[in-house]
Amino acid sequence: MSQTPTRADFDQYMVPNYAPQAAIPVRGEGSRLWDQQGREYIDFAGGIAVNSLGHCHPVLVEALTEQAGKLWHLSNVYTNEPALALARSLVERTFADKVYLCSSGGEANEAALKLARRWAHDTAGEHKHRIVSFSQSFHGRTFFTVSVGGQPKYSQGFGPVPGGIVHGEFNDLDSVRNLIDDDTCAVMVEPMQGEGGIVPATPEFLQGLRDLCDAHDALLIFDEVQTGAGRTGSLFAYMEYGVTPDILTSAKSLGGGFPVGAMLTTDRIAPSMAIGTHGSTYGGNALASAVALAAIEYIDTPEVLEGVKRRHDLFREHLEAINRQHGVFQEIRGMGLLIGAQMAPEYEGRAKDILPLALEEGLMALIAGPNVLRMAPSLVIPEADIREGMERLERAVARLVAGQ
Ligand SMILES: *Cc1c(COP(=O)(O)O)cnc(C)c1O
Repeated sequence: MSQTPTRADFDQYMVPNYAPQAAIPVRGEGSRLWDQQGREYIDFAGGIAVNSLGHCHPVLVEALTEQAGKLWHLSNVYTNEPALALARSLVERTFADKVYLCSSGGEANEAALKLARRWAHDTAGEHKHRIVSFSQSFHGRTFFTVSVGGQPKYSQGFGPVPGGIVHGEFNDLDSVRNLIDDDTCAVMVEPMQGEGGIVPATPEFLQGLRDLCDAHDALLIFDEVQTGAGRTGSLFAYMEYGVTPDILTSAKSLGGGFPVGAMLTTDRIAPSMAIGTHGSTYGGNALASAVALAAIEYIDTPEVLEGVKRRHDLFREHLEAINRQHGVFQEIRGMGLLIGAQMAPEYEGRAKDILPLALEEGLMALIAGPNVLRMAPSLVIPEADIREGMERLERAVARLVAGQ
């Protein structure tokens, strides 16, 4: 390339659906990043809960480069060893008997919803097609998944939405009792709402959904795209809750930064995804599968998963200390390394104002809606980086409070 790309190129050459920050990171190692000017940042954002082992983790670099020298892609006219090994690994580690591989969370959810509809169609008939979801939920950006998602702003303005979808209130079982019936084919839920503000489900809610689904022969779908692959300190959040879904979707942390998604289900349901019913050219791509397999094997160890819980406590302690000093948060919540700090009423809607200040102090963080500062760092972020990152966050919060 003759010219170094700049932030201005984004506005000139890319569709305006994002508003990226000014700095352009060019290199990452662990939980640190460096931009074009050589400025260093600590990464509490983790690529939105994706970089599960930080940047350029040697185990993932090795899996990727080794596979890159062997075989990249075949299409599903053939199968390949990394895809088979990944599917087997996911089955052995979870409730599932069968796996469908794809390239993103939205695709995994699209597959889950289509499978649920098809299964109900096959086993009960056309009428059993209703889907129950929840307000504030997020399931991806395909047209089916934005329609099932509970944030109407993502589906408005694109023409008629698919029918048969209703939304209850998260953590409110009565709202579901009013919506579910024998024509319901599936209930889709995030065990902890991510984009909706880092809101964990109560154990009673998830168990209640399980019971209602059983009573109406509907499938329970857990969208674990954000909570899965070690994020909560268990391999999947359903294990933390002790409530088993019929279909589970995973992406984000699963690939550690390589695009991959997976839909997991059981032998009872999988046959409805018969030959020709669904597919994806990239699904089971050898490079993606090799990286995801390495990631999942590395993450699903007591050492890493217990480390996630220990780091959760550290994050909480630091955030509480910042809050004792500045009083900007009303609640600190979340599980494992998916943590939200809800802004106090005086700072209503101002979570986003922290981000540019934090960036100036050398810290990357996220928001989840207007009122929640979100952190989704590497599952193996060094404790020294947590401490240093929190000092930077404290300076950013102090500036917010001082009105700078
Ligand atoms: C991010 C996310 C998705 C969408 O994943 P993509 O890879 O962006 O398609 C779906 N569900 C949840 C819960 C998510 O957090």
